[in-house]
Amino acid sequence: MQTKRGCPLHCTYCTYPLIEGPRGRLRDPGKVADEFMELCSRTGVEHLFIVDSVFNLPLRHAKEVCRQLVARGNTTPWTSYVNPVAFDDELAELMARAGAVGMEIGSDSGCDDILDRLRKGFHTDKITRLARISKAHGLKDCHSYILGTTGETLEHVERTLDFVAGLDPFAAIMLVWVEDREVLDSRTELERRRFRDAVYERVRERATQQPRWVVPRLGLRFDPRTFDVLRKYGMRGPLWQHLDRLAIS
Ligand code: SF4
Repeated sequence: MQTKRGCPLHCTYCTYPLIEGPRGRLRDPGKVADEFMELCSRTGVEHLFIVDSVFNLPLRHAKEVCRQLVARGNTTPWTSYVNPVAFDDELAELMARAGAVGMEIGSDSGCDDILDRLRKGFHTDKITRLARISKAHGLKDCHSYILGTTGETLEHVERTLDFVAGLDPFAAIMLVWVEDREVLDSRTELERRRFRDAVYERVRERATQQPRWVVPRLGLRFDPRTFDVLRKYGMRGPLWQHLDRLAIS
């Protein structure tokens, strides 16, 4: 479900601000909570995903939605997309009390110069802060990273992998950048493909040592059999939140 539409941030690669608009159109928190509870009362609903582009912007609205869920005694687990730009202890505490089990974070890079180039609006200190706060409140943090964006070198990639290893999040999803325009220029495409292969090689080496790093393209902790096992044992919600309970590699 959605609590709002619109994203005020300007990440270079993202179409959300075009699709949903650059300003948040906020729903009444009480009505959001009523709808949330109504959905949860339906047979078979065991997990909810709040699919706002960014749940915690504006911060005040996110906190009010959580307060309304707390007031209604919600116990159904839920997750959402959260941005490091505005995440504090009070929100984490409210989210946990409102039934949140974790969140997905578009952290993207472990290099401040790359975060600047992607116009993410935050630096690595904010990612580290979010990870620390979420751990303190028992929320599972799943960060996605986009490696090898335009202008990145293998050294940047290595720095990001080091950063994620040091961060030790609950889960990390590793993606490798593909530039749409590559296909229009065969010379660039070949160069980029070679670079991507080298990036995947580095990621494979590191990810095999990290039981909660997911690399979809390499099938590392991400394949249909894993989903089957999860569902068979009654595990609901996003795959990543059960990685600690699965001995998979
Ligand atoms: S915060 Fe998320 S939704 Fe908003 S522009 Fe960045 S990537 Fe897109």
